[in-house]
Amino acid sequence: MRSDEVSGLAAQGTLVERRLPGLGVSPGIAIGPAHLAEGGYIPVRERHLPEAEIERERGRFTDAVAVSLRQLNKLKVKTSGLPESAAEEVGYLLDAHLAMLSNSRLVRGVDHRIARSRINAERAVQLEIDEIAESFASMRDAYLAARIDDIRVVGTRLIRNLIKKPYATYSAMPEGAIILADELTPADTALMDPQRVAGFATVFAVPGLLERARADDTVVIDGAEGTVILDPRAETIAEYEARRDALERERRHLGRLRKLPAVTRDGIEITLEANLELPAELSRALANGAMGLGLVRSEFLYMNRDDLPGEDEQYAVFSALVRGMEGRPLTVRTLDLGGEKIARSLSDRVEESANPALGLRAIRLSLQHRRLLDPQLAAMLRAAGDGPLRILLPMISNAGEIRQVREALEQVARRLRRRGARLPKALPPLGAMIEVPGAALAADALAAEADFFAIGTNDLVQYTLAIDRSDEQVAHLYNPLHPAVLRLIQFAIEAALRRGMPISVCGEMAGEPRFAALLLGLGLRNLSMAPRNIPRVKQRIRSLDMVAATRRARAIMDQSDSGRIASLLDDFNAVALAH
Ligand code: PEP
Ligand code: MG
Repeated sequence: MRSDEVSGLAAQGTLVERRLPGLGVSPGIAIGPAHLAEGGYIPVRERHLPEAEIERERGRFTDAVAVSLRQLNKLKVKTSGLPESAAEEVGYLLDAHLAMLSNSRLVRGVDHRIARSRINAERAVQLEIDEIAESFASMRDAYLAARIDDIRVVGTRLIRNLIKKPYATYSAMPEGAIILADELTPADTALMDPQRVAGFATVFAVPGLLERARADDTVVIDGAEGTVILDPRAETIAEYEARRDALERERRHLGRLRKLPAVTRDGIEITLEANLELPAELSRALANGAMGLGLVRSEFLYMNRDDLPGEDEQYAVFSALVRGMEGRPLTVRTLDLGGEKIARSLSDRVEESANPALGLRAIRLSLQHRRLLDPQLAAMLRAAGDGPLRILLPMISNAGEIRQVREALEQVARRLRRRGARLPKALPPLGAMIEVPGAALAADALAAEADFFAIGTNDLVQYTLAIDRSDEQVAHLYNPLHPAVLRLIQFAIEAALRRGMPISVCGEMAGEPRFAALLLGLGLRNLSMAPRNIPRVKQRIRSLDMVAATRRARAIMDQSDSGRIASLLDDFNAVALAH
């Protein structure tokens, strides 16, 4: 018996408190009865079907898809009973799952496979999922990696419905249950009844969890630390209840911030906008007080399908976002795929590159394939007729690229006008991402062609320091406070400000409160970030004095050592927070 178990035994008679360390990714504390989740994998056998049975099998699969869609829609209705942030998270997953079952490559692929290979539907689902997962796995992209889990969970749902194996485990959960699983992915949560779950941890890596827990044990989960405590002592429960209440107070405080302006103590207003990867995130952006959408990534339109999205489909999506923003501005970015981020729908148009990060990607790909660029521009132009929309170009490395897109935009606009489309009088502003070091260094030349800049610090850091952030061996060298990165950012800001041109930051740096004083001190007045980061960045801005931040930014820019830069910034933040 380990020492922590002995002390628990001494304190509480027969019940032994057991602490299991793990990796937590989602802050929050939950206390409740344990529910042990069974693994998602269901073994299925392959059966070969005679020709005469193929049609019936396809019908069986169509029915399973319909049942799955009904189940997901039902779960969606139930999410309204969840706390707001959980409702959004689960709602967003359910939308993703619904999309995967609606005329997707998955559904079409399974249907073809049943007919082509003459096999049973459940085996066809499994093979199709494996193939999709394999093609995703070869793309080294965290966003797509997360989608693999979703696709597998959708596959499990289909198989369960085919073999009529219900979700007994989740439906039998006690109220306020805490789900324990060796690996609980965000996608798993979409299988659960949201009204019964007290709180769900996203991904917990707690080795040996299932072997050590029993159903209905009382469990405490600390989502920030990643600790799971089984059979906690009374004082442990009291301690965690107090922490849970403190977190809840903080959450309410951040919620109240939503209605307050992002203004510094000396009265300078900052525009905080949201980055969207999926339209479903819009409600969260608005709920968190986004004043606009500073970056709408359009890659989702190309994912999980074999064909390319047409102009009308894209227009419908952009226009819905414009209308959803009710007059607040949006910045929609043209396709940022290519290199390692290749969607299946593009794979036959782009050759493999020996060095994908430096290859045919983003605006380079769009300019080489006008069948990609023109429908996007047309859809954006039409959506700009419905409200304030700006067009942003990814991975710009020279002014000629902006000129070429502007010519294409004018051409597409003429074509649309001939067709009688309703367009804004003036063409929408055309902006350049500053995310290639050369673009930052040539910012004055780019500023002559572009209407606005958006600094993409994710790629700017990666390309400036030659660090692939997804490569763990060098991830520790990824440093936004490297003087080279800061000088490039400063250079771009100065080029824009000289012309009175709007400039924002939309890389991750904008979403970290730690960097707010530095970015504002360098002259930025617009930051765009993941919706969840808005309240905390706003809170930080409201504690800052712009005159002091500007002075500190100047002192920082005199430094050449990133350690010294970090301590100048952190000391400044500590003083600002103490006020
Ligand atoms: C960036 O590079 O900082 C950026 C915002 O673009 P993405 O993260 O989509 O590459
Ligand atoms: Mg980028």
